[in-house]
Order: sequence, then structure tokens, then C-alpha cells
Amino acid sequence: MSCGSFRYLFGPVASRRFGRSLGVDLLGQRVCSFDCVFCEAGPTQTCTLERAVYVPTDVVLAELRAWLGSGGQADVITLAGRGEPTLHRSFGVVIDAVHDMCSIPVVLLSNGSLFHIAEVRRAAAKADIVKVSLSVWDDASLSDVNRPAVGLRFADYLSGMITFRDAYKGELRLEVMFIAGVNTGDASVEKLAACAAKIGADTVELNTVVRPPSEEGAGAVTDDLLLHYAGYFGPNAVVIGRSSPQAIECDGRKDVAILSDQVMGLLARRGCTRAEIAEGLGCSYARLDVALRDLLTRKRIRESDVREDYFCLC
Ligand code: SF4
Repeated sequence: MSCGSFRYLFGPVASRRFGRSLGVDLLGQRVCSFDCVFCEAGPTQTCTLERAVYVPTDVVLAELRAWLGSGGQADVITLAGRGEPTLHRSFGVVIDAVHDMCSIPVVLLSNGSLFHIAEVRRAAAKADIVKVSLSVWDDASLSDVNRPAVGLRFADYLSGMITFRDAYKGELRLEVMFIAGVNTGDASVEKLAACAAKIGADTVELNTVVRPPSEEGAGAVTDDLLLHYAGYFGPNAVVIGRSSPQAIECDGRKDVAILSDQVMGLLARRGCTRAEIAEGLGCSYARLDVALRDLLTRKRIRESDVREDYFCLC
């Protein structure tokens, strides 16, 4: 079952790294501690370090219960959404509740900016897989790339993730995002790799901009350059490629209206490629194309001018 009718659940979507992922949005809007130049969700509306209950925890848990109760299946349940999930004061409660409800592993996708707070580290350690990010090496690069909320210092950002790694027994992944001409060049990458080494993640994922970014000038680096930079990050570095999910034949009972509604629910959280939508909703390209045409004609969605086969809400 997919989540067109839920408010805080989205997908399952095809994740390039985790398989079929049911997303849980704990912010409800664009709230983040960063306003990254490469963010695919667009500019951050509320850039803050303030932790709060941004969406009602009991409603999120009720939706998860309903989704599982209706036979929902996914490879992972991911705390993600359009901002920083650790800003939600009860994200650890949500992780505990998922573990009580089912055996699906919980992934926490975080920028790591609040890991200098002990309570955040304790809650994050409940997740089965944690992915944090680091694409900078000092306060100046942090300000150029991630444009953090006022008050966040690079030293705290980095030391928080190092302290977390020391205690965390689960799988820790670190994502490094390269933006052409912003955090590239061998001298910069060497400094960045030295900071990443201090964290000691199980895997370092080297990535670049593949979806339309928040800032138009935030461009991708080539695969060859990513491979070259991988040499700085040691044997645990992997270069992340574009997804090539297999479309799965959809349930024949879905009619176009239902499928269109599900596509809307998916795109309400973030833009997706045609392949990601097909994989996430488990439908064939032929069937999906009918729904996409329907939504394009009704101007409910639009195709990106920048990237072929990439769709967002109008
Ligand atoms: S990329 Fe992630 S951390 Fe950066 S602004 Fe977007 S949601 Fe926040």
C-alpha cells in the first residue's frame, strides 16, 4: 500500500541506497537547521536550531499503525522529509514505536548538525542505520555550502558526529555532497576527507547534485572527478550512481484516479523521477504514464526544465 491519503507518510519510494523506503515526515514543512545550496527540496523556510514538536507525534504513530495494519510493506522506514528530523523533539519516541510495531529497520537521515546535543545522540542511536552528512571542513565552507542557522559552529557540528560514532553500534553512513566549484579542488577535498576520517563512518558515500538544486548555480561534478576524490576517503568510500530501479507491475485494480492520487502524495514530499515513482508505487511505466499525462494535463504536476523525466507538484 502506498501513502497518498496520509499526511506524514510518503512512498514507499525507491531509495538509491536503501531499497523501498517508507518516508516519515516529522516537520510538515520546510524546517531545517541548514539551507544547503544543493537542497532538492528548495529553500529552507524556517532555518533554526530550535527543537520542538513540529508535527503531532500521536498522529504520526496512528498513521504508521494504519499503514502497517493495511498490509504496508517496505525495506526500511526512514525518518526524512523536507528538513532535519532531529529537530523534532520526539523523534526517538517515533523510532521506539516503530520497533514495537514491526521488524522493518529504521533509517535516520540527518545532516548531523544537532549531534553535539547529548539527547539527540541518545535518540539517534535507537535507529538501525544513521546517515549523516559532511561536505565542508571549516566555518567558511559550512557557510558557503550548508548556510546553517545562526549559532551553529563547525567545531560543534563535527565533534557531535565524532562523539556519536564513538558510542553508536549501528551502521553509520556519511554522505559527502560535491558541488562544482564550491567545495571541490584537491586541497579542499583533502581537508574535507581528514574531517570525515575523524568521524569513522562505516561507509562514506560520495555524491553530487542529481536533482534540481535550491540554487541554480549549484552544479554537479563529473563521475570521473568523484572517482578521483574517492581516493582521498579511503577504502570505505563509494561513489553513488544514479538509480536504475526495476519497475514492478502494478496492481490491476488501480485505476488512473487512484494512481494519480498516489503520485500526488509522493510528489507532495519531494520531486521524483519517473523511475522512482514507478518503483515507489509498484506500477508499470505504461500504467504510470497514463497517470502522469492526466496530472500534467490538469496542471497538477510539472516536468522539470532542468532534468528529463523529473516531476514536481505545480
Ligand atoms: S539538503 Fe538536507 S540538510 Fe540541507 S537544507 Fe535540504 S533538507 Fe536541510
